[in-house]
Amino acid sequence: MANANKKIISKGKAGQEKKEKKPSKSPVTVEVVDGIFVFHGGKGGHNITERKNKTLEPYGKCIYNYGLLLELIPGDQTSLINQNIGNSRYVHNNYLAERIKYYDEHRETLSIDQYKKEFLPKLKEEKEFLKRTDKFVYQNACQNVDTAYQNFFSGKAGFPNFASSRKPNGNSFTTNYTNNNIELKMIDGLPYLKLPKIGNVRFVLPKGKTLADLQPQGVSIKSATVTRTNSRYRVSLQMETVIDRPVFPTIIHADEVFSVDLGLKVFGMFGNAKETFTVPNPRWIKVHARRLRRFQQGLSRKQYDQNTHRGSKNWEKARAKVAKEQRKTADQRRDFHHKLARAIADNYTAFICEDLAVKNMMKNRHLSKAIASVGWSQFLTIVKYKMEKAGKYFRRVSRWFPSSQTCRCCGYKNTEVKDLKVREWTCPQCGTWHDRDENAQKNIHAEGLSILKSEGIQIIM
Ligand SMILES: [Zn+2]
Repeated sequence: MANANKKIISKGKAGQEKKEKKPSKSPVTVEVVDGIFVFHGGKGGHNITERKNKTLEPYGKCIYNYGLLLELIPGDQTSLINQNIGNSRYVHNNYLAERIKYYDEHRETLSIDQYKKEFLPKLKEEKEFLKRTDKFVYQNACQNVDTAYQNFFSGKAGFPNFASSRKPNGNSFTTNYTNNNIELKMIDGLPYLKLPKIGNVRFVLPKGKTLADLQPQGVSIKSATVTRTNSRYRVSLQMETVIDRPVFPTIIHADEVFSVDLGLKVFGMFGNAKETFTVPNPRWIKVHARRLRRFQQGLSRKQYDQNTHRGSKNWEKARAKVAKEQRKTADQRRDFHHKLARAIADNYTAFICEDLAVKNMMKNRHLSKAIASVGWSQFLTIVKYKMEKAGKYFRRVSRWFPSSQTCRCCGYKNTEVKDLKVREWTCPQCGTWHDRDENAQKNIHAEGLSILKSEGIQIIM
């Protein structure tokens, strides 16, 4: 997949974008200290995980990355965090603007390295406030722009967007770990997260957990992304550890391949070639959406000063209610996703789903709410992690694959089924009656089998 994308990028829409990645100057080495793998070197390289995996090969181990999401209680550091978010957005927009201008003038790409050398220092001299943020935040902001360009060139997304405080893309910043600049710790019995240029920020320790549960021996923090949603702050820590290298089987039974057609009315139709069953949306989704709306209305009636980012006492109370409700909903949803993913990873050898262009669908106002509330992409991310960690396959079928419209019996393509309102149909060619979602699930399953076969995996029917 990655290789295919690179090929498209190097052709490029306007014939640009073909920088080769430089090999790193400092090689990666590993040593085992008390059963824990400690890495040295590897600075300045891009494909660091790949190179670490190389050094782990003789041990039969590999790198495992995962995210750890925590609720922050910033208190006095709120303005510092807001400053970092604002600065990240400022550089994002500046790099994008300069890159567009540079291409117009020179017909060449303004690379991140060149921008950091020739543009950013001047900008920092002009804008004093930019000095209050560490360099990794800017590196990551530029990286996001660059990734957006790559997605644009490979046809995955539209032209890169400017970041805005009214959009999710303008309400976060990411910084990287170096020399203990990011750290989970206890101070006077309370949990804190140390962040560069910000200091120690309180966070909510999940119920029944200790710091050692969040970060066991041998697990390191790679980066931290702080996100603001309304007036709620969360951090997603990118964690890294070393696990036994999963062994992927080369022969699998077709029944062990599980597929899903994700839905709106129901969470999804799951199954293999023989059976299909419905997983309903949890009932609490609606209940909480209603409660949350009521609390948010309450909040909007309370006084809040946009300039100082401070609200009245009643505003604070109402905000706490909203935050608590949001937290509860998110926790329940994650719990639901984890349990379902666990069951799948424990019982099946391969998982096939659609490559949903969730972002594109979000633009559709009617679908967006349902999609956001079922949180498909979070669910699929969890399934992928659990499957791959266990040496099992996770594959997405192309989003152009007409899973709903194709008759699974004779292959006839019925374009009338494009309309989401068509819940069932009879194939005009072979006369088979189809439930829309079940037919889609079976088609995705069959397509999954051919993807696995094309990779050289033997399928027993
Ligand atoms: Zn048919």
